[in-house]
Amino acid sequence: MAYAAEVTLIAVAIPVPAAAAISRAIESARAAKAQGADLVEWRVDSLAEDPDGPTAIATLVRDSPMPCIVTVRDEREGGAFSGSDEERIAMWIAASEVIPAPAYIDVELSTYHTRSSIREAINRIAHAKSTQGKSAHAVDQPRIILSFHDYSGRAPGLSARVAEMWADPGSAISKVVWTARTVRDNLEAFELLRMRAKPTIALCMGEHGLMSRVLAPKFGGFLTYARIDEHGTAPGQPTTHELIADWNFRAITPRTKVYGVVGFPIAHSRSPAIHNAWFRAANVDARMFAMAVAPVWESFKATMAEMFESPVLDFFGAAVTVGHKQHAIRFVEEAGGVVDPRAKRIGAANTIGRGADGLLFAINTDVDAVIDALAGAAMRGKRALVLGAGGAARAAAFGIASAGASVVIANRTMNRAEQVAEQLARAAGDSPALDVRAMELSALGSQRFDIVVNCTSVGMEGGGASSENPLPRGVRLDDSSVVLDAVYAPAVTPLLAHAAACGSRCVGGFEMFLAQARRQFEAWTGSPPPTGGPPCY
Ligand code: NAP
Repeated sequence: MAYAAEVTLIAVAIPVPAAAAISRAIESARAAKAQGADLVEWRVDSLAEDPDGPTAIATLVRDSPMPCIVTVRDEREGGAFSGSDEERIAMWIAASEVIPAPAYIDVELSTYHTRSSIREAINRIAHAKSTQGKSAHAVDQPRIILSFHDYSGRAPGLSARVAEMWADPGSAISKVVWTARTVRDNLEAFELLRMRAKPTIALCMGEHGLMSRVLAPKFGGFLTYARIDEHGTAPGQPTTHELIADWNFRAITPRTKVYGVVGFPIAHSRSPAIHNAWFRAANVDARMFAMAVAPVWESFKATMAEMFESPVLDFFGAAVTVGHKQHAIRFVEEAGGVVDPRAKRIGAANTIGRGADGLLFAINTDVDAVIDALAGAAMRGKRALVLGAGGAARAAAFGIASAGASVVIANRTMNRAEQVAEQLARAAGDSPALDVRAMELSALGSQRFDIVVNCTSVGMEGGGASSENPLPRGVRLDDSSVVLDAVYAPAVTPLLAHAAACGSRCVGGFEMFLAQARRQFEAWTGSPPPTGGPPCY
């Protein structure tokens, strides 16, 4: 039977490797409390091997500005402790003699099950009768968190281990944490929370696991961990400030809708920051997450199918970026949804949503965004160069050619450029034939263009060619050229720096980015994003 939902706590995890680190650790905990944390987890793995460990832990617990968890994590489960059972027990006894005692003691399931001395000691501490029950202070004994961690991925038999923890009568909380292999692992964490038989922590570590940490309240997770500095105690922990201020953690409800931005790489994406700020300003109960999905059809299909089909996630849409814009069309078509004719013609969609009729839809908001970003640039009769042959290039070439310019597409892989040019040049449906042709990069020679749009990921932060300029060396720009770089991180790319030096008008990718994001927001929510006051991204 599922356990009733409670408020999900934020526990800031602070490592205290030595007694000398105590005062700094207390300061950090105070700062986290001021930011909104409810609990502090003292990670005293190394301290427990210090002969002065018991004295030090007593100080730490006594001076703790918040209720605390005491954890001596074994090195077999990602911690630093390799000492004896006696050392660990001495720490727990010293901590539990402080008034008030720690709220929780965390011990690994494997240790608890295989070491009878540990099991007996921790149960004695947790279930001891208070000797001071009639004093002015109510003396609560620490409650046991039984935990299981896998840093290498998802361990086989995970569900059985969780069931074992739920069944243990001595423990109060069950905790399972593993490194997510893909974003889909979060769904299993949510399922464990939904099925919980007692208060449960189910979290995924690493770049794919943020969703499980932020959405723990949606599924009634007992707590989520936060870090205080850049390190944290496990990969992927957000800071308390990020949880409270950026993710609006306290306002997450069981009805919170979920959106994703899907691409590869995706860590650089500003979409979550922008859409989350707009959701908040418009009072839309929704959060967007970055989802790194390998740039192959099978991965995209599997991820989108699991997200949209989940009966509990409330997944309502995806912004689709690098590597997946063609997949977006195929996915929606195969799901029996509606692909906008313009996206179909271009062969790329950057937005998937669910309509009021429940059907999925795919649209392309990049086309209008390119035209918006090039605002004021004359197009009719002008010559434009589009670099790249992916989703963004298709949208840019279509938009610029539809506005009357003659477009050359040049790309590292020539046959992709030819395919795009061939597809766009052909009249289709209500769309007339367009003046689009492909050229080898090396054949561009010293030509001059009125408009240049970079739609490759060259120059992109975090990409493989972040310091390179995608424009072949001989191509001429001058003070009447307009150059748009779709890459928006960094703000000044190597291409824009070169264009500025040539006196050309430079348009950063962020203009285009905001324009396409506004249209996505409207497609998902039915209203444009709020205006007035900049969103906090
Ligand atoms: P995509 O479909 O994956 O296409 C990537 C393009 O970049 C392909 O033409 C690829 O060439 C080329 N490329 C990648 N690495 C290269 C390298 N090292 N040297 C030369 N060419 C390389 O991606 P996309 O969705 O079109 O996005 C492309 C870029 O535009 C990304 O940086 C994305 O962030 C940006 N973008 C920005 C906005 C915005 O609103 N500002 C909107 C959409 C996209 P091959 O065909 O040879 O692989």
